[in-house]
Amino acid sequence: MEIDISKIKPFSRWQSFFYGSRGIKGFVNYPYIYFNIDIYEDIISTNPDPLNIGMVLHEFEHIKRIEKMGKYKFIFLYSISNKFRLKEEIEADKARFKYLKDLNININLEERARKLSGIIYFWMISYKKALILLQKT
Ligand SMILES: [Zn+2]
Repeated sequence: MEIDISKIKPFSRWQSFFYGSRGIKGFVNYPYIYFNIDIYEDIISTNPDPLNIGMVLHEFEHIKRIEKMGKYKFIFLYSISNKFRLKEEIEADKARFKYLKDLNININLEERARKLSGIIYFWMISYKKALILLQKT
């Protein structure tokens, strides 16, 4: 996948406070991807952590799918539909997991399942179901 580094930006101070306190490390605000300062600085460094590259791949998969579908339709469906939001997160995780599995890097599925079933994604799925789904991803 094409990674355009100019599309990646660090959280502003306000975003660091607002999203940081909610455990959000990165998100897409099309056409840009925002990451917390630590992750951003690691990504632009000469030797980035593969886990952070995995996060970049996750967010770029969102970008790719937004471009395919159209920004407004995507935002609308992502906002109102648990099923759509879940599908998009799993598709984005596929890109990340493939990269990490190829490097034999362990993926913390429990942590991801906790997030997918939590407030960040508006409780779109139960923890148990999320874990089963991630194990198949
Ligand atoms: Zn995502």
